[in-house]
Amino acid sequence: MVDWMANYMENISEYPVKSQVRPGEIMRKLQELPPENGEKFEDIMRDFEQNIMPGITHWQSPSFFAYFPAASSAPSVLAEMLTATIGAQCMVWETSPAAAEMEERVMEWLKKMMKLPTGWSGVIQDTASTATLVALLTARQKLIKPDVNSYGFPANKFRAYCSNQAHSSVDKAVRMAGIGSENLIKIEVDENYAMRPDKLTEAIENDIQMGFTPLFVVGAIGTTGSTAIDPVDEIGEICQQFDCWFHIDAAYAGTAFILNDFRSKFKKLELADSFVFNPHKWMFTNFDCSAYFVKNKEDLIDTFSLTPEYLKTRDEGSVNNYKDWGIQLGRRFRALKLWIVIRSFGVSEIKKRIQEHIDIGQWFANQVKNHPDFELLAPVPLNTVCFRFNPEHEKLSKVQLNDLNERIMHTINDSGAIYFTHTLLDGKFTLRMVTGQSNVKKEHVENAWEIIKKTAELINYQS
Ligand code: PLP
Repeated sequence: MVDWMANYMENISEYPVKSQVRPGEIMRKLQELPPENGEKFEDIMRDFEQNIMPGITHWQSPSFFAYFPAASSAPSVLAEMLTATIGAQCMVWETSPAAAEMEERVMEWLKKMMKLPTGWSGVIQDTASTATLVALLTARQKLIKPDVNSYGFPANKFRAYCSNQAHSSVDKAVRMAGIGSENLIKIEVDENYAMRPDKLTEAIENDIQMGFTPLFVVGAIGTTGSTAIDPVDEIGEICQQFDCWFHIDAAYAGTAFILNDFRSKFKKLELADSFVFNPHKWMFTNFDCSAYFVKNKEDLIDTFSLTPEYLKTRDEGSVNNYKDWGIQLGRRFRALKLWIVIRSFGVSEIKKRIQEHIDIGQWFANQVKNHPDFELLAPVPLNTVCFRFNPEHEKLSKVQLNDLNERIMHTINDSGAIYFTHTLLDGKFTLRMVTGQSNVKKEHVENAWEIIKKTAELINYQS
């Protein structure tokens, strides 16, 4: 099995990046009934290779440029093997003291590596979606009187705010927290797809006049569509003024805080009440590993702490029982992979690779910018490039351009050579390349650019 894993990592470039199977194809190959008697592992493995692998999209291919990446690295994979082998449930300190204390330590490491405010406390959540829900539930418990955990919602109506480019996990969180999606106000963005703080203030003031209570604001450092960066310093000040909880969603782009150039763009981070970024997106650490920081850990614990008799231990009060820092009781030993990744790479190597990913993203953006038949559709603050084919000599309508770019993307992705995805910006079908896959090098991006140019020209010529 370990040999198979090593071979896979070594030969990953030989697989078609996006799985080429049709719906139902894998299902038909899976036995309808569970086997009565155990099977040989070799037989299971053969079946896995022959019948299951064709249905895998290879997120760890260096030619994977879709969505945001799912980070991985050999040290992280080995750490996951240890975690699975030990199989500990790390819900309270006593159920594995090393897991609790290592989690506290690695979150302190991250804080130092990224120069986050020293007073913040960190905890690992499974995903950024969960972290945003946790932030909203904490805001609800802290700011609504009488407290919602005890009495439910009072009659007044609450409002939450994010830009119209925010991730759908914010929409999901307001639904789940009982705020209601009608009470999530999507704030207009500027020409860079960043939230307009003047529009936020206007919306909050309007809502107060109409009898609503502003509760929760999400600012994005790196939106999903184009990694736009909301003006979080200004948003933080607005939240102070109106006594709203301010949550920063830096799910992908947060990793770039490790670079001084990027970190120094943000002067007032301490105005945020909570902050999340995903080492499982861009910091060489396998899913799931979402680093969530909160300004005041007592607010968090006050929201989630609940200890039935069977979970009572002698050490309460003097240790971190992480079941009280989030939604679920059972927790994997996730700190281990972060600890092993940071120790194996060292901070300097992580910085070097993240800078390299940004440099090759900028290289790709420059190719697009300098080509007469392509155009950039959004600024490129890091390494997400939003662009489209727009042949100069043709006068194509918006609909024709959308159709042309969609066909280019599907043709390339169906070839299996590279995989990239799209977004919609101002109604424009936008091709989107992210150069943050853990193993990506410049040669892979050069290859992708050649494929995109050739395919675009061919499809345009044929149509
Ligand atoms: N926030 C942003 C900005 C994202 O881009 C994403 C996913 O791409 C998420 C949140 C959700 O991340 P997760 O899958 O960890 O819930």
